[in-house]
Amino acid sequence: MAVNLLRSEKAHAEHLARMKVEDRPVPTCPRCGFVASENTTKYGLRSDCCGLWSWNRMPLADAKTHEARKHLGPLFSSLSQALGAVQFYSEMRKRVDMKRAEEMTISTMNEVTAKKFRAAAEDLLMEMMAGNVVANAPKSGTAARRK
Ligand SMILES: [Zn+2]
Repeated sequence: MAVNLLRSEKAHAEHLARMKVEDRPVPTCPRCGFVASENTTKYGLRSDCCGLWSWNRMPLADAKTHEARKHLGPLFSSLSQALGAVQFYSEMRKRVDMKRAEEMTISTMNEVTAKKFRAAAEDLLMEMMAGNVVANAPKSGTAARRK
């Protein structure tokens, strides 16, 4: 039952991630069942309730989950920049069990998933530093811009 619940939460989060922010409903708090309070901040819409929070109307998450997700953004973007989005995705697929690119949406990850992706991304980074994973032929212009 817990597994089914997690799976449907994940599907719900992925569904939300495909919607525009303004089309998403204000998240409901999983702890008290009330609709979260919402504030516009310079980082976007922030929803808060019972010590849980989220950005841009994604499901509310606790501090541990936010902490686990925190480093993924910069890690994903630097790897994706170094390898190109397509190769980055295929390298990640070799390391994490996933079917679709949407599963790499950071704002939908729970703590466990975020940790799993972080380990995979760090493994990929190590392999690149060791020279075992090399970027495919760069697009024209990329090489010329390199110092
Ligand atoms: Zn609440």
